Formats: sequence, C-alpha cells, structure tokens
Amino acid sequence: MAISRQSLLDFLGQTLESQLFKDYCPNGLQVEGKDQIKTIVTGVTASLALIKAAIERNADAIIVHHGYFWKGEAPVVTGMKKRRLELLLKHEINLLAYHLPLDAHSELGNNAQLAKLLNIKPESGLEQDNPRSIGLVGCLAEPLSLGELGEQIQLTLRREPLLISGGDHSIRRIAWCTGAAQGFIDQAIAHGVDAYLTGEISEPTVHTAREMGVHFIAAGHHATERYGVKALGEHIQEQFGIKHHFIDIDNPV
Ligand SMILES: [Zn+2]
Repeated sequence: MAISRQSLLDFLGQTLESQLFKDYCPNGLQVEGKDQIKTIVTGVTASLALIKAAIERNADAIIVHHGYFWKGEAPVVTGMKKRRLELLLKHEINLLAYHLPLDAHSELGNNAQLAKLLNIKPESGLEQDNPRSIGLVGCLAEPLSLGELGEQIQLTLRREPLLISGGDHSIRRIAWCTGAAQGFIDQAIAHGVDAYLTGEISEPTVHTAREMGVHFIAAGHHATERYGVKALGEHIQEQFGIKHHFIDIDNPV
C-alpha cells in the first residue's frame, strides 16, 4: 500500500484542524521528500538519531511533534540543522510536524492520550479564556495520594516523576498539560484542583506549589509527549494500510 504525500497532508490537516492554530512553528510539511509514501516513522522530535532510525526502516515520511523552523531560531542552515536537513534530503524523506494541533486534539492529542493512559477523565479545558485550550482539567477514577499517583506514573511512563508536595491532601481533581507547561500552574490553581501535572518544572514552580497548596508533578517533557504522535501514526496505519513504526529516542528531560 502507498498513498500520495498530498493525500496524507490533506488527511492530517483535516484531522488535526492545523489551520486553526497560531503556533511557534509551521505545522504540516516542513521538508519535502518522495511523492509516494509506503512507510512512515513517528517520533517526538526530529533529531538526527530519529532520522537515522527512519532511514534504517526505509521510511518515506517522518511525522513528529517537535519539528524545525521555530520562531526566533537563527534563519541559516548550518551545523546541526545542516546535518539533519542533508540526511532528510539525501534520502528524500518527507518531514511532517504537528505541534499545538497534536497537543490539543480531543482523541489523538498528547493530553487526551496521557489522560487515557493514566485513567483520568477529562472534564474541561485548563485555559478558561481559550476554547482551544491545550491543557485539561478532570478527575481520577479514585482518590490517590501524591505518592500513589507518582508510582502509577512511573509504571506507565517508565520514568520517575519529580513530585512536589503541596500538602497532605489526596488527589481527585487534577489539571494537566504535556510538555513545558509549568507556567500554567496559576491556571490550574484557579480551577481549584488538588494537583497539576506537566512535563517540566522551573525553580519558582516549587514555591508556588507549596504556598498555594497544590501538588505539582513534573513527569517529563518527552515522556508526556510520546503518545499523541504514536496514536496519530496508528490512526494513519488503520486508515490507509501503510506501514508505521513509532520510534522512541529516549530523552530524560
Ligand atoms: Zn513539546
């Protein structure tokens, strides 16, 4: 089975509604390769290691959450960027990237997939003034202590989370946003949740959690963002019958 690059792009644009997002990078096709696609590789970040792994699997397209050409980045092709682009172009591999659209999708998105894995029921958006809120607020199936939820996360994501206690309370209502969304802790507090979970943490986050009485969990930027692009790859495989490999290039952050 094979599909044309254009049909894949049309399908993904429609599925993820990528036109509707204001983002820090271009969503969709970032590097043009072959017209026909038989094998896709998905991964979190379009690193050199992921490109090499995709070449080994004869991939015609790579789909990632973190692509290239971010706002503010130097607009020249040198060093690391040169080596990555050179390899993609030499092997005529298409690079497709979906950033915020893949965080936000209500089924295939990073946040929806993480909730499914951790058995959290989404109820509303985290950003009260944004109808396309990336983060979510919801409920655990049963109340857990911070330590118990931490263990569950470690087992599921295969990575030890950093837990900051905000008090003795157990967790029932929780807000979450995958990636580097520690800045949304204030929005989580405004929802009156028991805990806030994201990928990364900053120094001030610890004091906010302690002083505002909300547990904080940094479960890993990479670890929380593996599941959207993986689900998207499986969805494409089901839809078009082409080959799909999700490749996890480990990243401790
Ligand atoms: Zn991210």
